[in-house]
Amino acid sequence: MIYIGCHLSVSDGYAAMGRTMSRFGGSTFAWFTRNPRGGRTKEIAPGDVEALQEHLRSEGFGPLVAHASYTMNLCSANESTRANGREMLRKDLERMELLPGNLYNFHPGAHTGQGSEAGIRQIAEALNEVLTPQMQTTVLLETMAGKGSEVGGTFEELRAVIDLVKCPEKLGVCFDTCHTWDAGYDLVDDLDGVLRHFDEVIGLGRLKAVHLNDSKNPRGSHKDRHEKLGQGVLGAEAMRRIVRHPALQGLPFILETPNDDEGYVAEIAEVKRWMRE
Ligand code: FE
Ligand code: FE
Ligand code: ZN
Repeated sequence: MIYIGCHLSVSDGYAAMGRTMSRFGGSTFAWFTRNPRGGRTKEIAPGDVEALQEHLRSEGFGPLVAHASYTMNLCSANESTRANGREMLRKDLERMELLPGNLYNFHPGAHTGQGSEAGIRQIAEALNEVLTPQMQTTVLLETMAGKGSEVGGTFEELRAVIDLVKCPEKLGVCFDTCHTWDAGYDLVDDLDGVLRHFDEVIGLGRLKAVHLNDSKNPRGSHKDRHEKLGQGVLGAEAMRRIVRHPALQGLPFILETPNDDEGYVAEIAEVKRWMRE
């Protein structure tokens, strides 16, 4: 089995997200650690985190997958953007320690003209400033579509970051199916081959979460436009095979499809049907 859920808003607090996801029928969720524009985080109400933890235990939730702000770019050519990113990373990870044992996912970054080698080095430097052997959060690099100057459009680039990090045991990868497809990996006709390649380059042991998205665009388009499950180019059959793949069992799967609440409830139910079949 897998854990399934979608992104929720943290604006009503942590325990509220747990209750909402149970109402949606899911067993994990994601949230943006800060609102994409402001960058501010809200104070946590007393008892809120404890109430969520109790809910996760009693409802048998899987690991949660927090998502860093899109504005965080650890490898921008602009020094102050990079410094801002490092500060966001540090504060986000500090807060994640209130919920030990969960996952924190971020987009490796866009090198904005510096070249991917420089980008990879800067991402690793930022992680080396912030990761500690004591922390109880696993930090995930997301597989990217390779749009513009994005780092992480190949498994090799993610591996190169991991190789430069001093606490590699704190690092994992979040496999975004839309991004990986858009990057050129054939999840429709060669899912086994793609996962084998992932295993050879990065190691399946590092695969800690999946972003389950269909794509609006053909393979290798480097576009990054998500589609509802079964309504995109990957299609329902490919989505179903991903959910049921033996190498991916036990992982949290997060929907990032263009849906309202009812749409997510329907997709979560569909994924659970695929699991049961
Ligand atoms: Fe993402
Ligand atoms: Fe994603
Ligand atoms: Zn995306």
